Amino acid sequence: MVRKEIQVLSKNTIDQIAAGEVIERPASVVKELTENAIDAGASAISVEIKKGGISEIRITDNGCGIPVKQIHTAFLRHATSKLRKAKELDSIHSLGFRGEALSSIAAVSMVTMITKASEEDFGSQFMIEGGEEGELQEIGAPDGTTFIVRNLFYNTPARKKFLKSQQTESGYVQSMMEHLALSHPEISFRFSTDGRERLQTSGNGKTEDVVYQIFGREIVKNLLPIEQKTEYYSLKGFLGNYTVNRGNRDFENFFVNGRLVEDKILRKAVEEGYRGFLMQHQFPFAVLFFQFPDGTIDVNVHPAKKEIRMDHGPEVLSLLSAAVHERLTRRDDIIAVTLTKEKKEDHVTPKVSALPFEEKHLKQVNRAVEEHAASVLKDTAISRYTEEVTKPVQMSFLSEKSRPFYRIIGQVFDTYWMFEYDGKLYILDQHAAHEKVNYERLMASLKNKTMTSQMVSPALIITLSIQEAAALEEHRADIEALGFAFESFGGHEYRITATPGNLYSIDTKHLFMDLAAQAVSWKADEESALIRERVATIACKASIKGNQRISQMELEKLLDELLMLDEPFHCPHGRPTMVSLTRDELDKMFKRIVS
Ligand code: ADP
Ligand code: MG
Repeated sequence: MVRKEIQVLSKNTIDQIAAGEVIERPASVVKELTENAIDAGASAISVEIKKGGISEIRITDNGCGIPVKQIHTAFLRHATSKLRKAKELDSIHSLGFRGEALSSIAAVSMVTMITKASEEDFGSQFMIEGGEEGELQEIGAPDGTTFIVRNLFYNTPARKKFLKSQQTESGYVQSMMEHLALSHPEISFRFSTDGRERLQTSGNGKTEDVVYQIFGREIVKNLLPIEQKTEYYSLKGFLGNYTVNRGNRDFENFFVNGRLVEDKILRKAVEEGYRGFLMQHQFPFAVLFFQFPDGTIDVNVHPAKKEIRMDHGPEVLSLLSAAVHERLTRRDDIIAVTLTKEKKEDHVTPKVSALPFEEKHLKQVNRAVEEHAASVLKDTAISRYTEEVTKPVQMSFLSEKSRPFYRIIGQVFDTYWMFEYDGKLYILDQHAAHEKVNYERLMASLKNKTMTSQMVSPALIITLSIQEAAALEEHRADIEALGFAFESFGGHEYRITATPGNLYSIDTKHLFMDLAAQAVSWKADEESALIRERVATIACKASIKGNQRISQMELEKLLDELLMLDEPFHCPHGRPTMVSLTRDELDKMFKRIVS
């Protein structure tokens, strides 16, 4: 090995390395600079970004400003006005304190800062690019500070390569802004991307107003306030009731001593508290603010300070989950909430009219099904079905009106139906049967261009996470092909104005939410036919559940359709729709015959 001389790294190199830890993406710049503005006592903070924050981030606050003499120092690594000695680390209440943000940001972008300290007569403009200090000029400016950060990672192309699409990056910034706004209801925040306003909060100090401004009316009217004081922590915040449960954790928001955290103990406690109120793979809506006494938690575990360590994990876990559970079981609220929900939504009879589905979607659908039939997925349920429906025999086999002959005996356990058919006794699982019929219908409708859509009036309002909304937009064509029509309604809210027309007993609102939650994990370039099959599967899962009473007439309609299918005995996922007992088998059971 060739011995190389040991050298101290240059300031710029050190700053760039440090920037790697602190500044990962535009959202981290926004976080650091907004937290600085909060620490500076601002009551109004405006954040504008362009092109996902990669080309420009502009943050203006009306805080205390930086005195001209300290400007140079502020951009030095480990320069901070917030921490003097290591022992203060336990009791620190400001958001920043490592003194790394400004030096890191300046190392990997082009920064212009305009600041005026309230005690000084003039403001200053300072430029620093890639860590190289530029000029410092005196200029007229209001009290406070503006940062303009341009061309993030222009001098570190390897980092730039790791950024996601502009849309995704601005989504991260938006989430960040929402969390900052939630943890500081006393500050008025404005946030816009490429000139479009995305968030504005009033700064009136009321958390529920911020929740409303971010998540909208649907969420707010289904919130239960929760408060708890224990020897380990105190808690204030809101829990969503069961009507706003979600398909992912996007809506679990935990703040500890004013800081957004992702903590396993808190998450587990809350989810345990919801046990019995959540179906499998469902997660709650929660905005919870915790105060832990100084010295009992360590927020300095992670450079972005998202993780914490706490002294009394097990105690916190059990106290918190108990409080959440208690809050959810308190009867008064549940009744009140159910009543308003019923009055406002369920009891409004939607005006329904069938529309032939839009031609362009049908073309896409058709092409997708065609491609699919030819593809390698030949033996999946879809292609099997595609081949089957193209057989002309299928339709003449049994004319639409001719009913298979069966005799219904009755229903047991609100789930199973018994009937006699073709010399056998059948026991049918009504949910699996619905799923099967819906799935086959859906695939056939998509293929035969007979998918219909129902107008819904008034429109259904739902709340989506930023990730869900982005995924829905990405897969809009596939979801519209089902018969849905939807549009952004501002903030996180979406309006559903039409729902699938020819599906049985489906909770369309939940179907849409399920689609949104799952679409997050679909790849952008996934084959359309594959998406289509998933969509159909999800739609079918939303079919009437077991344990839901259906009338004998409804069952007859279902059986008529089911028994006309080529393979009526299994639902699309392989579960049986019915089991049968022959006369012989029964006779054997009762030892009438011995085999
Ligand atoms: P830290 O926040 O950890 O102290 P930073 O690098 O983020 O480190 O900031 C360095 C210092 O610059 C801060 O301690 C603060 O004194 C000053 N500063 C940064 N941003 C602002 C601002 N918006 N208003 C007033 N002072 C600021
Ligand atoms: Mg800081």
